[in-house]
Amino acid sequence: MQKNKKFNFDYSYLSLPNQFYSITKTNTFPKPKVILLNKNLCSSINLIIKNHEDLIKLLFTKDKKIKSFSQAYAGHQFGYFTKLGDGRAVILGEHKSIDKQKVDIQVKGSGKTPYSRNGDGKATLKSMLREYLISEAIHYLNIPTSRSLAVLETGETIQRQTLEEGGILIRVMKSHIRVGTFEYASYFCSEENLKSLASYTINRLYPEINDYENPSLILLTKVMEKQIDLIINWMRVGFIHGVMNTDNTSVSGETFDYGPCAFINEFNTDTTYSSIDHNKRYSFGNQARIIKWNISRFAESLLPIIHKNKEKALQLAQDIIDSFDDLWERKYYGMMLNKIGIETNNKISYPLVDRLLHLMKKNRADYNNTFLSLTKNNLSNNELNNDFEYIRWKKEWKKNINTKTKTHIAKNLMKTNNPVIIPRNHIVENAIEEASNGNMNSFQKLLKIIKKPYGYQEKLISYMKPPSSDFEKKYKTYCGT
Ligand code: AMP
Ligand code: MG
Repeated sequence: MQKNKKFNFDYSYLSLPNQFYSITKTNTFPKPKVILLNKNLCSSINLIIKNHEDLIKLLFTKDKKIKSFSQAYAGHQFGYFTKLGDGRAVILGEHKSIDKQKVDIQVKGSGKTPYSRNGDGKATLKSMLREYLISEAIHYLNIPTSRSLAVLETGETIQRQTLEEGGILIRVMKSHIRVGTFEYASYFCSEENLKSLASYTINRLYPEINDYENPSLILLTKVMEKQIDLIINWMRVGFIHGVMNTDNTSVSGETFDYGPCAFINEFNTDTTYSSIDHNKRYSFGNQARIIKWNISRFAESLLPIIHKNKEKALQLAQDIIDSFDDLWERKYYGMMLNKIGIETNNKISYPLVDRLLHLMKKNRADYNNTFLSLTKNNLSNNELNNDFEYIRWKKEWKKNINTKTKTHIAKNLMKTNNPVIIPRNHIVENAIEEASNGNMNSFQKLLKIIKKPYGYQEKLISYMKPPSSDFEKKYKTYCGT
């Protein structure tokens, strides 16, 4: 038994050329206070934090062994290329957990770094509470994501549109390497350094790739597949990331950087809540197109190490990007068919999905509750039930299930793919508002409820209800830096 196990840090990232990082320290704050600590996560990564003071000491330590750093990267933000870097994040170290798996322990919002540009390096408490809650919800919905270990109040106010309370988030992730890290390498570093980044990434995240003849090409394929699976999972639960810039697209296939994200209520592929996304670039239904675009940027940055011959490299990468559409179609419809209890992924069944989505849009039906009503087969307050086309659709669907899938398999597929509870926007906002005023009750209750998103409980019916149409019309999300 290991006892009192604190961070067990490694610094493998610092073996990369120093263009890829800057050694940084977390700033100190007059009165930091831990307001959320994720004990489950601590134990799952073999980390014992005895009390809040312990955590604070670990975060703001001056210990020379802690070689904390911020990462350099670039990225396409809303389609435009910019040099970026961790402007408000410091990686304390790579914690080696029990199974020797390494995870980055990142402190977000702890002050300026060499990459802060004009920013203050800080974060609002509300936005850090939001990231904590939504990332935990995504985890329990069985979707790969960064996790949240703790939230701290910094005890100071920071200037945004109004004065706001400052906050810090401790984030845990397999790796913070992003498509933007590769873009940085390809725009600003030598080919040698790009090679170093690729080989570091492969060893850290996909060591099995080393056995292939052209590891860079396999890396491209792997990341594309991981990202397709990820975004399809978002589509499964109605999640809109909101700011899928290439610097927010992880190479590990984890969801991260929860800014203006939200969950859809009534189904419409155009749904965009982000206040700055005027062209709906990151709308619910555009997420497939965007991830293909982002992966194409990843491919471009890998070209020099895919093949020495430029044309050959381009052809090899293009072949992979060209396989995106078919792969997406097969995986997307496979998932949607599972949502309606059909196991076999056959193109003949795809129109069944399309017609349901069409009817949902026409009737402004709630996305998650429609699938829930099919799963439970007894929720009567569904917007669709008065539409005779839907009644006809349902008959055909039942016939399909009866001929294609055994009933218990169908039921199980639907139960595991259709969440009962998603953190609905109006409930999240209310919980954060109360928490930022010092009352954590609603927040803690919501945190507990989102841990079992697939189990139906009558007493939780208020958490399943969509917001009023007035809320929905006005609701906007913010990057919330
Ligand atoms: P994000 O939208 O959180 O992905 O951030 C985009 C870029 O802006 C990243 O390079 C961040 O480090 C940087 N950034 C965001 N907020 C701040 C801030 N308050 N101070 C400095 N840099 C920031
Ligand atoms: Mg980011």
